Amino acid sequence: MTTSKEKASERARRIKELRTEIINHNYRYYVLDDPTVTDAAYDRLMRELTAIEEEFPELITPVSPTQRVGATPSKDFKTITHTLPMLSLANAFTDDEVEAFNTRINKLLNNDKDITFSAEPKIDGLAVEVVYVDGLLTEASTRGDGVVGEDVTHNIKTIRSLPLELTGDKIPRRIEVRGEVYIPMKDFEEFNKEREAAGEAPFANPRNAAAGSLRQLDPTITAKRPLNIFCYGVGTVTGKGWFKSHSEALAYIKTLGIRTNPLTRTVTGASEALAYHRKLEAMRDSGEIDYDIDGTVIKVNDIDLQETLGVLTRSPRWAVAVKFAPEEGETIIEDITIEVGRTGALTPVATLKTVNIKGVNITHASLHNMDEIERLDVRIGDTVVVERAGDVIPKITSVIKDKRPANTKEFNSPEVCPICGSKVELKVTLKGKAKVEVLGAILHCTGGLKCPAQRKGAIAHFTSKAAMDIDGFGAKTVESFVERELIKNSADIYDLKKKDLASLEGWKEKSIDNLLRSIEASKETTLARFIYSLGVPAVGVSTARVLADAFDSMDALAEATKEELEELPDIGKETAKNITDFFSDAHHTEVIGRLLARGVRPTKEATAKAGRLTGKVFVFTGTLDGFTRSEASLLVERLGAKTASSVNKKIDYLVAGEASGSKYAKAKELNITILTEPEFTKLIKG
Ligand code: NAD
Repeated sequence: MTTSKEKASERARRIKELRTEIINHNYRYYVLDDPTVTDAAYDRLMRELTAIEEEFPELITPVSPTQRVGATPSKDFKTITHTLPMLSLANAFTDDEVEAFNTRINKLLNNDKDITFSAEPKIDGLAVEVVYVDGLLTEASTRGDGVVGEDVTHNIKTIRSLPLELTGDKIPRRIEVRGEVYIPMKDFEEFNKEREAAGEAPFANPRNAAAGSLRQLDPTITAKRPLNIFCYGVGTVTGKGWFKSHSEALAYIKTLGIRTNPLTRTVTGASEALAYHRKLEAMRDSGEIDYDIDGTVIKVNDIDLQETLGVLTRSPRWAVAVKFAPEEGETIIEDITIEVGRTGALTPVATLKTVNIKGVNITHASLHNMDEIERLDVRIGDTVVVERAGDVIPKITSVIKDKRPANTKEFNSPEVCPICGSKVELKVTLKGKAKVEVLGAILHCTGGLKCPAQRKGAIAHFTSKAAMDIDGFGAKTVESFVERELIKNSADIYDLKKKDLASLEGWKEKSIDNLLRSIEASKETTLARFIYSLGVPAVGVSTARVLADAFDSMDALAEATKEELEELPDIGKETAKNITDFFSDAHHTEVIGRLLARGVRPTKEATAKAGRLTGKVFVFTGTLDGFTRSEASLLVERLGAKTASSVNKKIDYLVAGEASGSKYAKAKELNITILTEPEFTKLIKG
């Protein structure tokens, strides 16, 4: 039996362990903007610590992470002391916890009626305070440790949706506006792609990218980042009577030209607050919200009541952050195997004991590469946390070391391809010239198309919807045909005969006829589809379209030099080399020759009729009010112009909507004509 002394010492050990771990995560998250665990995993540690401290309050110390906000500001910045502390928020994870918050404040206020709350999206970004004196933006700071923040005045001024001067005629002498700086999801994806293309490490999520971008020492770098801001509160303000409630405060700052979140509502009582929360979660899940949110913030609306309730060390008593249920679960790794992709990349994949996460049964998770296995220190037999985010392949986020049994098995790097037995080599991506850094190292099978896995991948890519679109020829069919040696490459598809398929199990006459008909129909295709179907590394649908526009035939493309290719919009050095390497491989030219000989006829789509904008290349950035980006692209294409996705010296116009970031800065740097939305509309209307 464990004695109470032993229990106390075990508790002390666990508290120490949790505090050390949380402080380390805080440092990585707040100072380095580079967390190593998910927010849900972090929240679990924090909850465990809070639960122990609530049961044994004598163990709370002023330096415990439960008593502190954020982290000490970085030494690289000048600091600003907040006139009113910038606190964190108490969290609620379940309906019961929201009810308990409601009951608690009613009790404290001695109130028995439903309270009015402001319910708002909890933006997953970085908190800032912006100060306006006589209507002019004078300083801005991060939350820092709640008392002292980092001076980010120069950086905040690069956010185009934040006014440098307030509007309206009711401007206080001094006002502190608080809000969350974030990066919209679409811009984040684009920005990360640009980083990868430039050989820089991508950011893990929009929150880290926003924090890393705002906390730059050089504001010209911040100016290139697609930052935006939603303001959700006011700190101190000179004068009285500007507003009586939080919702009035938000309406007021909006009249000053400050951007507030349009999804904010006032609700009455806990049940309406919870209904709002669920609706917001559904909106997020359906992809309606184009920025990351991690829950709902519920705030007592009446300012007098807020003052009565007051604040605790770390958070106000009058507000709570209701977090969305994490899309993750705990399970056991039953095995780790290697999958070989179309380009020969080896990916370790974990077979999991089936776990249900938000209604979906998860049986496998990607481990990405050997570095990831080492970083997580994951072994067969370990209990792990698995995260599912949208449609992406589930990911293992951490190993629960406390649950590691004695007999776990380490997974070692394979020396040969598990499919074809060819030697495996490590392909390393490097970055930088003077100081070379390793960006990533991925194992590759050297078997090329001799490897059945690479062959299957290449053929399945060829038949896929965006490529030759051969109906009924999915990955499973490809797999079975390759295994039976009916086909070895994509050209063999056009040699398939009815009699070859008749003996196959599960293939009836009708399905065989349908398949042969789809194969025949696929011969009439566009040049762009055909180029894409070849599977040249890094040549996706849009690059294939650029190539098809630029060259009249496959022969012309095959003869293009690297220099000619690099002249085209969207094609850099690396892609140009991939293309010339591909066409100098005898096997590839033989397969292409056979495809054409079997009657595949890739025809160049009629290019847009010559119009007023023929020869011009447009790039769109930021949000346009009057059109979606694809509508705007269609409009210019109808007038003969082309569109590209990145800014370089080959483009003619950058159309900049609201919140345009890096592309705007780059276009300025390259002296490219930048059009506002009204100027763009005028141009297309002629
Ligand atoms: P918090 O994020 O739970 O809540 C407080 C913050 O919410 C505010 O400071 C503000 O920035 C933000 N916020 C967004 N929308 C708001 C709105 N409408 N009104 C008011 N505030 C709004 O608390 P925190 O102290 O900033 O951070 C703790 C959280 O950060 C954790 O729960 C975890 O999710 C994450 N975190 C993760 C790691 C990690 O390693 N993964 C480490 C530290 C913190």
